Amino acid sequence: MMATGNLFILSAPSGAGKSSLITALLKSDSARPMQVSVSTTTRAMRPGEVDGQHYHFVDKTTFEKQIKQGAFYEYAEVFGNYYGTSEQAIDDQLAKGIDVFLDIDWQGAQQVRMKKPGVTTIFIAPPSQAELEKRLRGRGQDSEDVIADRMAQAQSECSHYQEFDYIIVNDDFEQATQDLVTIVNNQRLKRSQQTIIHQDLFKDLLAND
Ligand code: 5GP
Repeated sequence: MMATGNLFILSAPSGAGKSSLITALLKSDSARPMQVSVSTTTRAMRPGEVDGQHYHFVDKTTFEKQIKQGAFYEYAEVFGNYYGTSEQAIDDQLAKGIDVFLDIDWQGAQQVRMKKPGVTTIFIAPPSQAELEKRLRGRGQDSEDVIADRMAQAQSECSHYQEFDYIIVNDDFEQATQDLVTIVNNQRLKRSQQTIIHQDLFKDLLAND
């Protein structure tokens, strides 16, 4: 039988600590290979970002051409920029038995849920609105206007929390990381997954001689 990885979606308002949690998850001991899907975006590169690693950075014309070609699993406009997930990249990884993590917004989550009902969706919430604002300011990269915009956007993202299977409140980072690892392992231990991985074992256990 074909190996099938698990597909996860992680959504959060910007500033909830999603990227750090994903980095910690990837560093944790794992029984299965894991990969974060690299999205395509039209937004400007931030200092320290690497093309092809954080995102595939393209211009608007290129993105719109790719939409027409049907290259995206899902795409959405966030903060006036396009963001999209490449279909081919995900399916290839899942087929190899790799667990794939999508760092996408609620609009993308809605589209993927329709295409893959088995997807596991996780919402990461900040411990309070005040703390979220503090974290957004702490980055020191954005102007007042951008911060006000992102706070409004954060509230809009949070208003969709009920659409997700799991919720992690990122107050204590270690705890939140452990929660994320627990959710991933929980999915891997489901019978539907175990049956695929332990096919030979069950053949053996049920054999008469
Ligand atoms: P940032 O510009 O801070 O990297 O990301 C802004 C928002 O866009 C985040 O909420 C992030 O999850 C979302 N995002 C990143 N990539 C994708 C994508 O491929 N599809 C969708 N729908 N959202 C994305």
